[in-house]
Amino acid sequence: MLLSTEMALRNLWPLLSITPSAAHPSPSVASHAASNRLLFPPLTTEDTPASILDIERATLRNRKLLRDLSTFSIGGPCSLFLEVHSPAQLLSAARLARARSLPLLVLGRGSNCLFSDRGFDGLVVLNRSPSASAEPIGPTGRVRAWCGYPFNRLGVQTAAEGWGGLEFAGGIPGTVGGAAFMNAGADGQETADVVETVEVVTREGEVKLLGREDVSFGYRWSSMQEMKELAAILAVTFRLHPSTAARNRQRMFLDRRRKTQPIGDRSAGSVFRNPVGMGVTAGELIDIAGLKGFEIGGAKVSELHANFIVNKGGATAKDVLALIGYIKDRVDRLFGIQLKEEIRYVPYDHNSA
Ligand SMILES: Cc1cc2nc3c(=O)[nH]c(=O)nc-3n(C[C@H](O)[C@H](O)[C@H](O)COP(=O)(O)OP(=O)(O)OC[C@H]3O[C@@H](n4cnc5c(N)ncnc54)[C@H](O)[C@@H]3O)c2cc1C
Repeated sequence: MLLSTEMALRNLWPLLSITPSAAHPSPSVASHAASNRLLFPPLTTEDTPASILDIERATLRNRKLLRDLSTFSIGGPCSLFLEVHSPAQLLSAARLARARSLPLLVLGRGSNCLFSDRGFDGLVVLNRSPSASAEPIGPTGRVRAWCGYPFNRLGVQTAAEGWGGLEFAGGIPGTVGGAAFMNAGADGQETADVVETVEVVTREGEVKLLGREDVSFGYRWSSMQEMKELAAILAVTFRLHPSTAARNRQRMFLDRRRKTQPIGDRSAGSVFRNPVGMGVTAGELIDIAGLKGFEIGGAKVSELHANFIVNKGGATAKDVLALIGYIKDRVDRLFGIQLKEEIRYVPYDHNSA
């Protein structure tokens, strides 16, 4: 219940500074750091929040509206809300959630989520790393970025410096953590192609380094979505390749995106995954079904790109879910194809997910 969770957490903020660290250090993270000569110190399980948490900059609040954390501008209040400004604070937040048995939802830009109109009964952690939190790219093409770093910016910076692999990230409005979790992709590229390692914090509050072989990726899917023990992604290391064409390729992608997507509207990007191996996109099917511009309540199928649902003002999650249901039904009846959602619906009660 909303109230009981609120009460349980009232006055608990100081707990973040005294949460005991878990018992075991993470040697793999440390050795990884040494081999990469990291400028940003790696977190280890031994880091105590007391030594790393800047309490002044993080505040625990009640009933923050999720619509303010979502590019869709939809969603009711969460019971508890915390904005973190460093992976160390994120680590503390994960430990707090564990200590209080709270459902935990870590968010980047909320650019792939549809939140319930009732909100979320648990702790929502908004991940805002400082902007200067991606390391300069090394001579080997390796770049490590904190989870809250803007994925778009990383893509633009690396392409401008002559590195290929993240050109597609230009124009994707999420964070590095969200991109790895979702295996974001576009224009024939995806995050999985260039991920080398992922640093995570577990629900037990332990920091772990996952190698590429520890994580599976699929179309807009990563096995991290199903790892019950995962609390949050802390940082991702990418391995890029030298490319003199990267910058121009990215410009072309961005130009096409501006012409074909309603980027100024409130949306969560593509709503449906493209059907695999059918030679047709979800957007094309919805367009052929005559649904461009179709509306339910405040939710509307974009006139520009049929796989985008936009909030034309005052849309509720109920409107969007009804529109999704209508589109799926129509496409199934016309083409016998069952569309599947790419956006993540976040229900009020995590048990009903
Ligand atoms: C205009 C527009 C265009 C888009 N274009 C594309 C595109 O071309 N390709 C594409 O793939 N997507 C696209 N998207 C969707 C979205 O931007 C991506 O999926 C993006 O990677 C989501 O990142 P985020 O930080 O916003 O994640 P959020 O929406 O905040 O979260 C998505 C999921 O990831 C989890 N998550 C986020 N951060 C962490 C973390 N640090 N640790 C653990 N879990 C975490 C959340 O809990 C949630 O389940 C678009 C969206 C918009 C609005």
